[in-house]
Amino acid sequence: MPAAFSAGPPGAAPTGPPAGPPAGPAAELIVEGGRLVTPDGVRDGTVIVRDGRVAALLTPGEPLPPGPRLDAAGRYVLPGLIDSHVHFRTPGLEYKEDWEHGSRAALVGGVTTVMDMPNTRPPSLDESSMLAKAAVIQGTSWIDYRFHMGADPDHPELLADLDPRIAGSAKVFMAGHHTAPVVFRDGEQLRRAFAAAARGGVRLVLHAEDQHVFDLLDASSGAPDSYGGYEPHRPRSGGIVAVANVVRLVREFGTKTHILHVSSAEEADLLSAAAAEGLPLTYEVTGHHLSFTHDDTTRRGPRTRLSPAIRECRDQKRLWQAVLRGEVATLGSDHAPHTVEEKNRPPADAPPGLPGVQELATAVWTGLRTRDIAPDEAASHLARLMGEGPARLFDLAGKGRLEVGADADLTLLNPSDRWQFSAHDVQALCGWSAYEGWTFTGRFTSTVKGGQVVWDIRDGFSGRPEGRWLQGTARPLEVAR
Ligand SMILES: [Zn+2]
Repeated sequence: MPAAFSAGPPGAAPTGPPAGPPAGPAAELIVEGGRLVTPDGVRDGTVIVRDGRVAALLTPGEPLPPGPRLDAAGRYVLPGLIDSHVHFRTPGLEYKEDWEHGSRAALVGGVTTVMDMPNTRPPSLDESSMLAKAAVIQGTSWIDYRFHMGADPDHPELLADLDPRIAGSAKVFMAGHHTAPVVFRDGEQLRRAFAAAARGGVRLVLHAEDQHVFDLLDASSGAPDSYGGYEPHRPRSGGIVAVANVVRLVREFGTKTHILHVSSAEEADLLSAAAAEGLPLTYEVTGHHLSFTHDDTTRRGPRTRLSPAIRECRDQKRLWQAVLRGEVATLGSDHAPHTVEEKNRPPADAPPGLPGVQELATAVWTGLRTRDIAPDEAASHLARLMGEGPARLFDLAGKGRLEVGADADLTLLNPSDRWQFSAHDVQALCGWSAYEGWTFTGRFTSTVKGGQVVWDIRDGFSGRPEGRWLQGTARPLEVAR
């Protein structure tokens, strides 16, 4: 790369109109004049893209090469965001969601990479089922993807020699629900999974609620008879017991462990303390646990009937504190759509889950700005929690950081647009959102994938669904169609 195109010190930029020969070979794309959110800080600049990668980050005033331009004036330029927790429902549940809709929803929400969960039909509990899943998805996704394998309670030993090209992480359900029937009910199975994952270098990602706690409560109190009655029926004690158990197992085996969708203040306290002790234990918070409280479920019904349940205002406050203090490693949407008909079933049988990959970053941006976090600082939080954080945890090379050499996956955010979100905006196949009627602050305006503008707020989608299955740095696998 010519020296003129590397990100030089700020003082090195020439001033005035460019003179002399054109500034190097033509660019594939020039994202011009935005506020760049880089790992080293937030600053004004221009992104030069060549061969699908970030070739240079120029400071204002440096001469530009020839090439198509995308105006980023007044926009934050973020690395394409990563949502490391989605359920795109393929295979077997495509009537709820599919990759065409899910990946378009992602692009509109600034997300260019997702990690998909294994609780499909059939579930992805081994390498062959994940190869089969990759074959079904190939050619249908607009964004890049990697899979969490499902940990199998009957075969926890599979985790010890999982091919890292196929997956580097595995999902453990410690409690079940409608779309999560494969559950670790037995303490010995769970120990074996932690031991095998540690041997295989596999990161466990956990739904950490204790099924025995819930079974006990169900036996004495029966099913909830209102949507508001759901939270007391699936209380924080289930999460606290499970997290305490997981901390003990991580201490014993040293297994890399990421707890998903932490919902209560007590769990956040325990996990932050365990991490401070040096255990390899991290956690995720979802957009919905940051955006809603139990009152919303009581008032508005099944859309925020979720698993883990949405809790109290004090929990929401503690989760925001954990986000702002850097205790949280990733933000996930837990995008898990169901049809309107399914969600509107009676309280005892309405399935937990909502669409969220499109809404996540915008809802969090709104929350950050509502809490008076300055825009540059808010942008850094977003890039850390949906960029560097998940990229580091899940070994997503080239993703999550706006820097020279990275994949040219970018998203542009208008930080101050105030707009009302409606069902009309929803890209997910299910066609509804828990955020309908919300006034958001901030709106994504363009998303670039591999150097191509694949979505723009004015022009819509362009190109084709050419997302790739990310297999780390090893030799790629053959995927049959
Ligand atoms: Zn989930």
